[in-house]
Amino acid sequence: MAPVQIPPFEATAIDSIPSTVNRIKTTYRSQKTKPLSYRLTQLRKLYWGLVDNTDALIEACKQDLGKPIFETVISEVDWCKNDIMFITKNLEKWMKDETAPDIPLTNRLVSPRIRKEPLGTILVIGAYNFPVQLSLGPFIGAIAAGCTGVLKPSEVSPATAMVLKTIFEEYLDPNAFAVINGAIPETNALLNEKWDKIFYTGSAQVGTIVAKKAAETLTPVTLELGGRNPAIVTKNADPRLAARRLLWGKVLNAGQVCISQNYIMVEKEILPAFIEQLKIALKEFFPNGQKASPDFGRIVNKRHFLRIKKMVDDSKGKILIGGEMDESENFIEITVVQVNDIKDSMIVDESFGPLIPVLAIDNVEEAIETANAVHSTPLGLYAFGSKKETSKLLDNITSGGASINDSFFHGSIPTLAFGGVGDSGQGAYRGKASFDTFTHCRSVTTTPGWMEKLLDVRYPPYGDAKLKQF
Ligand code: NAD
Repeated sequence: MAPVQIPPFEATAIDSIPSTVNRIKTTYRSQKTKPLSYRLTQLRKLYWGLVDNTDALIEACKQDLGKPIFETVISEVDWCKNDIMFITKNLEKWMKDETAPDIPLTNRLVSPRIRKEPLGTILVIGAYNFPVQLSLGPFIGAIAAGCTGVLKPSEVSPATAMVLKTIFEEYLDPNAFAVINGAIPETNALLNEKWDKIFYTGSAQVGTIVAKKAAETLTPVTLELGGRNPAIVTKNADPRLAARRLLWGKVLNAGQVCISQNYIMVEKEILPAFIEQLKIALKEFFPNGQKASPDFGRIVNKRHFLRIKKMVDDSKGKILIGGEMDESENFIEITVVQVNDIKDSMIVDESFGPLIPVLAIDNVEEAIETANAVHSTPLGLYAFGSKKETSKLLDNITSGGASINDSFFHGSIPTLAFGGVGDSGQGAYRGKASFDTFTHCRSVTTTPGWMEKLLDVRYPPYGDAKLKQF
């Protein structure tokens, strides 16, 4: 890979934000972004922007998160390229008017239909952990829907934010799309503008700020929020399979994954075997340890490193595996902790890091009770066990999505809508859902002039004779 220079992070001047937004809104009103050909051209340009800047994105994700090349390629760059390919292949079909189903003949005469209209000018606010995917994923949907818009990447991944800005400026229509870089002041300046939709990914705490601000102008929001997701391993599960798959769920991006399991409940009978298999899998994944491996990322910055470290320090649990940390490079090893209290901070708070708190349980009923007590609407649920057990868990624990016999596989299926429920989020995207989330379904009828005689029945004076016709 040729060496790539990434410009130092630079926040967008706050006083330039209103004029940028104004320019982009004017472009929306010009109708320019609505034709299929325009949308496809912009999506294809973005595709080539990703191809041409793959090395820069790999370098940026390495600088921001120590992200292994493999992870940047599969979960950032190719992820977005695949979304673009799927959407461009289906867009014409999705954009077509839909006719109203199951209507009587007289109603068919007015051609009742649903027009798929862009919502307008939108704002996408991204999170740091998948800085490409979580920024471009929603934005691809917005372009496909015919919207114009602004992307505000996370400043916590500053190198990637700068590469995204370059891609937008060099490949997309600058009158329709822009990247505004910055932190809280820039985001607040953006939130002070009137949008037709805000798509936010990040913590529930900031999601509340965004939703409150949006409510002032009745702006619709999609919120993709935090996890605190339970995994359950029953005595009927295969301990090796469960250990390998759940370990992968914490290895990817060093556990900085919103849909990664936050804690694992394991039936007592199988706990020793499960822990043993976790040790074996770790050795298989990282024969020379995680620190020496090019396949294990780092915590994004010192603040998050210290936050995760504090969770381990504050926990009353016992470290069974790992525990090594190195502040000089924000390294935290996969750390398995046996926790006995469901109020332990490791269970209650989202670690968003490579921690694996394990809680011993007596049975599936206790798992259900505990999961619902910890967080009634998690983003994900991961259940390992017999068919009967996993379907009972699925029935009794609500979540945004779920993977049976795996950790967050559902989140990697490009045509499955992705989103939370309750306080883990509202709205969804990916596949057709990305188009739908930025589309207004506008119901329209056209009444022909020649129907006037037929319509006479609806005009007063009504009289008994008209009533009898119904
Ligand atoms: P964050 O909420 O700190 O930041 C997200 C965005 O909000 C950033 O662009 C940031 O600049 C902006 N922001 C931060 N503070 C703000 C404020 N006070 N006012 C206005 N804007 C502000 O989230 P994060 O730290 O980037 O991500 C971690 C959280 O996001 C975790 O809880 C994780 O579970 C969640 N997450 C959810 C998903 C999902 O798809 N549901 C995906 C990734 C991350």
